[in-house]
Amino acid sequence: MRVTINEESCHGHQMCAIAAPEIFGSDDLGNAVLLIEGDIPTDLQGKARRAEANCPERAILITE
Ligand code: SF4
Repeated sequence: MRVTINEESCHGHQMCAIAAPEIFGSDDLGNAVLLIEGDIPTDLQGKARRAEANCPERAILITE
């Protein structure tokens, strides 16, 4: 599983960081940044899916 963030869609709600703090952080403007490059570890994939579902801007893309 890989996660990407559409930076143009991200509005900095930080719902993703609440759902998956191991995967999502924030930049100086509060927009999401990825803390894990490459494959998401198996034990964090459920949190990644929750973050995707909770993003109000649909800015998180998961690919398997
Ligand atoms: S929840 Fe979505 S819009 Fe909000 S910071 Fe995370 S990726 Fe960006």
